[in-house]
Amino acid sequence: MRAELICVGTELLLGQIVNTNAQFISQKLAEIGIDVYFHTVVGDNIKRIQQAITIAKTRADVLIFSGGLGPTEDDLTKDAIADYLQIPLIEHTASAEKIIRFFQKRNIEMPENNLKQATIFQHAEPFANPNGLAVGCGLKIEKHIYLVFPGPPSEMQTMLVQEGIPYLLKIKEDHCLIFSKILRFFGYGESKIVNDIQDIIAQQDEVTIAPLLDDGEVTLRLTTKTNTKAEAENQFAPIQTRILMVLKNYYIGEGNMRLPERLLHFLCENHWTIGSAESFTGGQFLAELIKLSGASKVVKGGLITYTNEMKQKLLGVSDETLRTFGAVSAACAREMAFGVAKNLGVHIAVSFTGVAGPNQSEEKKIGTIFIGYLIHGETYEQSLYLSGTREAIQKQAVLHACAFIYRCLKNDFQAKKG
Ligand code: ATP
Repeated sequence: MRAELICVGTELLLGQIVNTNAQFISQKLAEIGIDVYFHTVVGDNIKRIQQAITIAKTRADVLIFSGGLGPTEDDLTKDAIADYLQIPLIEHTASAEKIIRFFQKRNIEMPENNLKQATIFQHAEPFANPNGLAVGCGLKIEKHIYLVFPGPPSEMQTMLVQEGIPYLLKIKEDHCLIFSKILRFFGYGESKIVNDIQDIIAQQDEVTIAPLLDDGEVTLRLTTKTNTKAEAENQFAPIQTRILMVLKNYYIGEGNMRLPERLLHFLCENHWTIGSAESFTGGQFLAELIKLSGASKVVKGGLITYTNEMKQKLLGVSDETLRTFGAVSAACAREMAFGVAKNLGVHIAVSFTGVAGPNQSEEKKIGTIFIGYLIHGETYEQSLYLSGTREAIQKQAVLHACAFIYRCLKNDFQAKKG
C-alpha cells in the first residue's frame, strides 16, 4: 500500500506554520508498513485541492488529508473531496449532538455553520475527535482510500492513533492476498516427512506449512498472506530451500500435477515414446497415462502378459530365467522390458512383475515387486516390498514406475543441459 499526504492550509504555504502533521503521520504509517511516497501541501482552495487529488490518485492507494475541517468558509477539505468523488456529505448525528452540547454548556448561541464540522462522506466510517469538534472519517471507494483529519496536531494525532491506524490496519489485512505453493514428494511417508522437517514446521511464522496426502504422493502446502506474488515468493524461497535440503531425494516438483501427468507432460515435451509390459498391474500403468489428454503423442502401447507362457511367447522371456529365478524376479522384469521395447520400438519401456496378493506366489511374499526399465538404451531394475491390499500394491507400483522414469529422465536431461 502506498500513501500520499495532502496537508491543506494556506498558512503552511506561507510558511506561517511548520508541517509537523506530515512528519507525525509519516512516522505512524511507516510503523504499520505503509509506504509514504509523497507529501503534498495545498492552500485552502477547492480547485487546487481537487488537482492534488487527481495527481495523488495516480500514484497512491491511500490519500490522507489533514486540515481544513473547521467551521469557517475557508475550511474546504471535505467539500472538495465530496465534490470530486460526487458523493454527498451527511451529518454524523453523534458529532452534531456533541457540537450542540458544546455551545449549550457555554451558553453561547451556535453559529449554524458549526454543524459543518459534523459532516462525513456518505458510507464513510466516522473518526471521533476527543480533543475537538470536527469529526474525521475514512472511506474506501473503488481502489482508493481517503482519510480525513483535522489540522490541529493535538486533534489529528489522537484521532490518527485511535481511529485512523486501526482503520488502515483492517483494510490492509483485507487487501492482503493469500498465496500458496505446493511441493510434491514421493517415496517417503507423510509422517516421516513431517518428522524430518519438524524444526522447520515448528518455526513457521508468516508462512504456514501444511502436509497432505494426495493419492499416494505427499504434498506440503506453503501459504502466506501478502500484497503481491513477488512478496510471497520471497517468503517461500528460504523455507523451500530448507525443506529441500532435507527431502531432496523424495522431491518431485511444484504444483498440482500428479506423477502420471507430470511424466506424460515431460515425455510430450521431449517427444519420447513409451510402452509397457505388465503382469500383476494388468495394464494400469498405461491406463494412468492414457486417461490423460496428450497420451496419443507418446504412448505407443503395451502387452499384458499375466502368465509365464505369455511372458515367453510375447516378450521372449527365457525358459532358463523362469526356471532359475521365477517370474517374480529382477531378471524376468529386465527381459520383459527388453521384449516390449523390441516389439514396440519405444524410447522408454517399463515392465511390472510381482505378487500383489492376496496369495503368495513362487513362495515370494505378498508385495514383492520388480519393475524393469529400458530408458534410452540403459537398463534398470527396481525391487520393492510394498504393503497393503492388492489394489494398493498395484497402485503404488504404478506410481513408483512413474517417479523412477520421471526422475531418471529429468536428471539426465538436467545433466545434459548443465
Ligand atoms: P480548525 O477547526 O482549528 O480550523 P482545521 O481542521 O480546519 O481546524 P486548519 O484550520 O487547517 O485545521 O488548521 C488549524 C491549525 O492547526 C493551524 O492554525 C495550525 O496551528 C494547525 N495545523 C494545521 N495543519 C497543520 C500541519 N500540517 N502541521 C502542523 N500544524 C498544523
